[in-house]
Amino acid sequence: MSGRAKEIVTRARIAFESKRTRPIEWRIQQLRRLHDMVTEQEQVLADAVYKDLRKAKFEVVVSELIVLKNEIVTAIKNVQSWAEQSYVSKNLIQKMDSMYMRKEPLGVVLIMGAWNYPVVLLLNPIVAAIASGNCAVLKPSDVSENTAAAIAKLIPQYMDKDCFPVYLGGIPETTVLLEERFDHIFYTGSTPVGKIVMTAAAKHLTPVTLELGGKSPCYVGKNVHMDIVCKRLLWGKLMNGGQTCVAPDYILCHEAVVDNLITYIKKTLKDMLGDDPKESPDLARIVNDRNFARISKVIDTMPKEKLVVGGERDIETRYIAPTVYKNVTMDDEVMASEIFGPILPIITVANEDEATKIINRQEKPLALYIFSNKPQVVENILEHTTSGGVTVNDTIMHMASHNLPFGGVGFSGTGSYHGKWGFDRLSHERAICWRKQNMEALIAARYMPYTDKNLGA
Ligand code: NAD
Repeated sequence: MSGRAKEIVTRARIAFESKRTRPIEWRIQQLRRLHDMVTEQEQVLADAVYKDLRKAKFEVVVSELIVLKNEIVTAIKNVQSWAEQSYVSKNLIQKMDSMYMRKEPLGVVLIMGAWNYPVVLLLNPIVAAIASGNCAVLKPSDVSENTAAAIAKLIPQYMDKDCFPVYLGGIPETTVLLEERFDHIFYTGSTPVGKIVMTAAAKHLTPVTLELGGKSPCYVGKNVHMDIVCKRLLWGKLMNGGQTCVAPDYILCHEAVVDNLITYIKKTLKDMLGDDPKESPDLARIVNDRNFARISKVIDTMPKEKLVVGGERDIETRYIAPTVYKNVTMDDEVMASEIFGPILPIITVANEDEATKIINRQEKPLALYIFSNKPQVVENILEHTTSGGVTVNDTIMHMASHNLPFGGVGFSGTGSYHGKWGFDRLSHERAICWRKQNMEALIAARYMPYTDKNLGA
């Protein structure tokens, strides 16, 4: 097993040292090949994701393939300028020198994807790796096995085989792979596995980017258009069956509007998914039995009197109905860890100050959502909390732009990417001071011996 890992990493390293990844034209050519792959193989990729998650093709195209293609196009358009060396200002002593930073690739990067968006979470980081001139070993999640197999078949048909090998396997194979020395590890997945990855990386002092998860809160204040709030909120929650890292995990609702919120949640669920959500073609299923059992346990443990809607399940198809709870407290099972499924707990709060206190009692979240038409309420929450990113009056949208960095903070992640941030993350900014062998008289005073030198005071 270790032979296979060593072999592909060695091949990637030899390819990197051949310097063929350096020319910008080569990088653009590889990015174009990746774009061709996503365009030409759209149906193959959509079919594979459907087999893994029963996800509607529309959702695969909108939330994975279009996002990925935008990232590729952005990199193709900008890689030349991103890679340019940047000059810095100089003081008097350095006036005659050249002072600048060269953007250099790191070497061989390991990219580990998660199963919930199995195409984009694996291939968006490779866009950054290609643009910055690195080689990359791709390790798809074994949980989304059909997509992993499709990518392992397609990538070598389109991309440089030595520079971008795909390595398949579960935990034992990944453990072996993590023993290899990489120049950066880019990991997307859960916080506990993030710790395993960081520990493995530490052995080689390998820098890491960790795109992790956690419980992302959503505050609903007074004076909102509740019909709009519920559409935007439930869209973010139910996309991919709730298995989205930036899904609103739980609601903190102002006590004055909680009844209205519940009324509109029920109405919006019907509008979006019909009378029986099980019959809707648009609600993805839970990815595997382990996750089905985990989410089922939460439902079984919750007090029945708190149930607003949902709770139905079907183990055969791994269907879980959108399930909403009211009057939730921090002691309820649903608040113990990230839900990662179609369950929505509502905690009633007196105001946004109480909401920020609850938010701050937990680990720093990946995303924070605020629904309010009052700028001072929004500012108050922003001022007193932190999170990887924020969308105000919608969900998910802060991660949809390549003009904003995407990443977590604390337990929700380390480092960010998308657009130029991905390029910078996988580049080394090499500081260069280039002097000439002249003007010696100007610097003569710095040499030893120091005796009899006057420091001027
Ligand atoms: P997962 O099980 O697919 O694991 C992710 C990767 O880690 C895979 O490549 C897998 O093979 C590997 N892995 C799993 N266990 C391992 C182990 N013990 N040792 C070594 N490697 C191991 O995905 P997951 O962890 O179930 O993903 C869900 C979590 O990921 C959620 O917490 C979610 O919030 C988070 N997530 C974050 C982002 C983000 O961009 N921040 C995106 C998607 C998911």
